[in-house]
Amino acid sequence: MKDIVIIGAGPAGFTAGIYAVRSGMDALLLERRATGGQVLDTDWIENYPGFPGGINGAELMGRFEKHARDLGVSIESDEVHEIRREQDSFVLRTRKGEIKTKTVILATGTGPRPLGVEGEDRLRGKGVSYCAVCDGFFFRDQEVAVVGGGDAAVEEAHFLTRFCSKIYLIHRRDQLRAVGSLQRRALDNPKIEPLWDTVVTEIRGENSVEELILKNTKTGAPGNLKVGGVFIYVGLVANSYLYKGLVELDERGFVKTDVEMGTSVPGLFAAGDVRKTPLRQVVTAVADGAVAAITAEKYITGS
Ligand code: NAP
Repeated sequence: MKDIVIIGAGPAGFTAGIYAVRSGMDALLLERRATGGQVLDTDWIENYPGFPGGINGAELMGRFEKHARDLGVSIESDEVHEIRREQDSFVLRTRKGEIKTKTVILATGTGPRPLGVEGEDRLRGKGVSYCAVCDGFFFRDQEVAVVGGGDAAVEEAHFLTRFCSKIYLIHRRDQLRAVGSLQRRALDNPKIEPLWDTVVTEIRGENSVEELILKNTKTGAPGNLKVGGVFIYVGLVANSYLYKGLVELDERGFVKTDVEMGTSVPGLFAAGDVRKTPLRQVVTAVADGAVAAITAEKYITGS
């Protein structure tokens, strides 16, 4: 039986692994896709302490992984399909079989929230993207749109200026939600044109994105915009479908925890973006992971 199984190899999961093995625990870290999580989709991280000038997201995650492996964290590619509670332990049914463990740390993060408009699903991968770092290159010298006004939208709009000839930043209000420094950098860039008080109501195109149908949120006036691609950054959804009915979630599906990362189920902890938290950053996920591992160790040893 494992001491701690951590689900999700992003900043929270790697850090939980590091703290778990350093506490003498037998820890296993499972990841269903590429290790690194959503940070892999971030080109440049400027607010993680210790890296003045910033660091590429994939490089930072490569360092986290090396650090975890060097200290003895077992990292496996596997997907958890079910978590069952059995007396004082848990059984995880995974793609590869069953794993028995004393505790579990849920660190499955978030995914992009879809816009939910006509054409979005049909043209996904054909001009509709949720990842500028992955797909931006394919839009070289084209005009594209970014939808959203948060940190992600504004940062990724700026990233796209490397490739695209013009980026329309479509926001439903007349003020961005993103932090001031990101806003200033984006709005000072002549390639970025904000379209204020505007929503996308439909994405059109025969085989790929050709046009967005727009609506002014103040006047209701319709509009349209010819673009070759649209990058959607309208927030996050918790990767918590596996935990419905198992642990208490908030109304948006984020896992509720106490300050020690304990959930409503003893022995089950949550860390990082998947939990209900006021801030979703690498630095907060890292802190959560450390706290969750130490709390799990205390739970196991009864100290
Ligand atoms: P977010 O902060 O929740 O912002 C979502 C944006 O999308 C908001 O501007 C919102 O408009 C808009 N929006 C939501 N639903 C919409 C809809 N149906 N139609 C049009 N617009 C819609 O999400 P995020 O930018 O993905 O960031 C998520 C978290 O990751 C945040 O905690 C953020 O700080 C963090 N993050 C940080 C960085 C960084 O620090 N560099 C980078 C990326 C992400 P309103 O403003 O009107 O609500």
